[in-house]
Amino acid sequence: MDWLEILTEATQHIKSSVTALIGTPIAQKTYGVGAGGDPKKHIDLQAEKALIETLTEHNLDFTLISEESGVKHWGSKPTYYVTADPIDGTTNTLKGIPFACTSIAISKKPNLDAIQAAIITDLFHDTTYLAQKNLGAYRNYQKISPAQTSSLTEAVVGLDFNTYKVAEITAKLNQLLTQANHIRHLGANALELCYVADGIIDAFIDIRGKLRATDIAAAILIIQEAGATITTPQNAPIRNTLSPTEKVAFIATGNKNLHQTILKTMKKA
Ligand SMILES: [Mg+2]
Repeated sequence: MDWLEILTEATQHIKSSVTALIGTPIAQKTYGVGAGGDPKKHIDLQAEKALIETLTEHNLDFTLISEESGVKHWGSKPTYYVTADPIDGTTNTLKGIPFACTSIAISKKPNLDAIQAAIITDLFHDTTYLAQKNLGAYRNYQKISPAQTSSLTEAVVGLDFNTYKVAEITAKLNQLLTQANHIRHLGANALELCYVADGIIDAFIDIRGKLRATDIAAAILIIQEAGATITTPQNAPIRNTLSPTEKVAFIATGNKNLHQTILKTMKKA
């Protein structure tokens, strides 16, 4: 089955369904709390609806694992898992900050290490990242590779420490924060991971243990297929289960040298 063709169609449908909503008051309307624990905004639900429309138009049997609706089965024999974050960076879309994406991953098992196809489409720019297991990672059909910067002082390092055990996290990152000269946080973690895969930024770190595994399902394959590195903060492979409540923590870097340097700064802290 050509999943990438279906996923491309799905992300374009999602994009065209939400573009007019970006920055509008109606996009912010809240409908209770989603399966992932965050408030469900109108714009999130529209994006998920568009995804389901495309998948069901193709008469596919699948299990959807989504931040909004949780786990749902379609068809009589669902063999594939479709793991989606219909909008990553919802706050950015509500404010009109041009950094958000839609993220979809395909696997035969509900595990982060079983992803076989992935797509992440930028909702503001004409940029789509995709990857297939063992076939590389691409931006708009051009093969991508990560940055080779190994110096922490020169590296651009994305860091998410939004509102969660912030004292504990900054203590662990004290050395890193002292040495790094270019810290960023852009507000859509899946797209920020694509930037590591694509060599736009050098590293992205989220050690909060708050991010949903489903949010990085597509990005993890794009990172790995591009040849970048991603591990847990303990330097172990990431093998989380894909469920709307499973949480993940990680260090992603363009190359292994920078990865070792970052791990060392965290040990010293
Ligand atoms: Mg989301």
